[in-house]
Amino acid sequence: MMMLIFLGPPGAGKGTQSERLTEYFNIPHLSTGELLRVACSEGTKVGKLAEAYMTSGQLVPDPIILSIVGERLERGDFDNGCLFDGFPRTLGQAQSLDISLKSRGTPLNAALELRVNDKELEKRLMSRGRADDRIDVVRQRLKTYHETTKPLVEYYEQQGLLRPIDGTGSPDEVFDRIKQVCG
Ligand code: AMP
Repeated sequence: MMMLIFLGPPGAGKGTQSERLTEYFNIPHLSTGELLRVACSEGTKVGKLAEAYMTSGQLVPDPIILSIVGERLERGDFDNGCLFDGFPRTLGQAQSLDISLKSRGTPLNAALELRVNDKELEKRLMSRGRADDRIDVVRQRLKTYHETTKPLVEYYEQQGLLRPIDGTGSPDEVFDRIKQVCG
């Protein structure tokens, strides 16, 4: 039973490493970014609400995010563990997740933080070609990360849950480092 969250700026390799980790621990994966992209392409109510924030590199407001995650938790999708990827991204989301998980008796085991410097991130993001991977949007997403999501690093450090990981090098090298800290 593993309950993990994946922190790190856009382009740090969370997506790539998530695939490996979920297979390794045999746990489901929840990426709020993926759920939102699906909602946008299907033109749902949530998708319509979220689209303008996403295309400008801003965070989608907490109530929308908490309702889509809450729905999954209610369904029992994560009763046997989960890798949360790109969530939480604000202190409010983190506190809310803590309360939900503790009340279910499945608190977090660790917060993995993938560390990559901004220059390398810009380079990686610009070569990826997703709709929100334009240089101005990329810079805005990095700014949003530093301003709003970085405080979570301290939040989890205080709880003794933070596991920083060097995110540079090949995907295999990074995954070896992750396995070392997760056991
Ligand atoms: P990602 O795929 O995680 O990089 O997310 C892509 C975009 O979706 C972000 O730039 C945000 O606009 C939005 N998003 C994804 N997850 C969250 C979240 N937990 N809170 C707020 N916005 C989010």
